[in-house]
Amino acid sequence: MKRYKAKAAMLILILMIIFTGCSKKDEMVTDSTYMLGTYLQINIWTQDAEKGKEIIQQCFQRISDIEKRMSVNIEDSDVSKININAGKASVQVESDTDYVLTKALEYARATDGAFNPAIGKLVALWGIGTEKENVPSDNAIQEALQYVDYHKIDMKDGRNVRLEAEGMRIDLGGIAKGYAADEVAKILSENGIKKAIINLGGNVLVMGSKEENTPWKVGIQNPFEPTGTYMGVVELTDKTVVTSGNYERYFEKNGKRYHHILDPKSGYPAENGIISSTIIADKSIDADALSTGVYVLGLEKGMALIEGLQGVECILINDKSEVFLSSGIKDRFKITNDQFKVVE
Ligand code: FAD
Ligand code: MG
Repeated sequence: MKRYKAKAAMLILILMIIFTGCSKKDEMVTDSTYMLGTYLQINIWTQDAEKGKEIIQQCFQRISDIEKRMSVNIEDSDVSKININAGKASVQVESDTDYVLTKALEYARATDGAFNPAIGKLVALWGIGTEKENVPSDNAIQEALQYVDYHKIDMKDGRNVRLEAEGMRIDLGGIAKGYAADEVAKILSENGIKKAIINLGGNVLVMGSKEENTPWKVGIQNPFEPTGTYMGVVELTDKTVVTSGNYERYFEKNGKRYHHILDPKSGYPAENGIISSTIIADKSIDADALSTGVYVLGLEKGMALIEGLQGVECILINDKSEVFLSSGIKDRFKITNDQFKVVE
């Protein structure tokens, strides 16, 4: 009899848990801010809205720490210290800067230098997106090209980084936003959040799915239209989507557009027909570096690189509105604007 009562009590308890679990639906908590030179938004689904708000603040704090270490615009960041000491001394950096720079060098090798963290001198010379933006003289570009050899970033000595030539500058603008998105996802996971949309200036990471068995739909920016106008949607669960485009940061002079993704071989903005390169992957740091690298590599080399990587897909758009898809994304991507055509 005693045993029976205990069993009944247990059953009631389980039913209560299931019942309360069902009755309270997760609610969306959202917040946004401006950091990393861009607009950041985090949406999470949770039962505890107050705690949810705190968790998002924790994420913003982590992004702020990353910015303080990896920004070229902050005087005492790890990156600035490395640059100031170029050709002189090695600089001990925080472990996250070490991690991002190590990854950046991996992608420099994987893209044959198309993605190049030693691009800083050229980025500063062009100044795209700053008050100093201008078309440099060809002489100045040729001169700057002598300072972009990523093989001269010396990381052999633990967390000590040294640039071997004076005048060299590193720039993590093409990869650090991806790292920041991964770190946000990590904080959310650690706090039990299973469903979220992280958007760091177009660097998107989705956690979980929209509903059970219903993936998130992420819009792909129409490269010819203002921000927020989509040309297609991709359906995803637990993935990141990162786009590099010629419409993000640019200026025009004499009818010509100069955008911020530079070809480290020519010293000029990459110009190979591709105007938008979207990468879908598990980790945002990988997708960010690859979106920039594939943009520079162009269609053939870029597609070959992505097809050779496990769990990484791409959507490339050229200046004729032609869309090229890697093999694993074809059934998850739909064009929503018939100006665009998928080329098989
Ligand atoms: P992506 O294609 O991912 O990256 C392009 C950027 O990468 C370029 O802007 C350049 O910085 C760099 N790059 C260019 N060519 C190459 C190449 N071949 N290989 C590797 N890298 C390349 N913006 C502001 O306006 N003010 C700020 O204070 C500011 N602070 C920032 C701090 C941090 C830590 C980060 C990560 C970014 C910051 N930004 C800031 C934005 C930054 O300047 C870039 O514009 C931005 O990171 C570009 O991201 P994207 O996704 O548009 O393009
Ligand atoms: Mg990038």
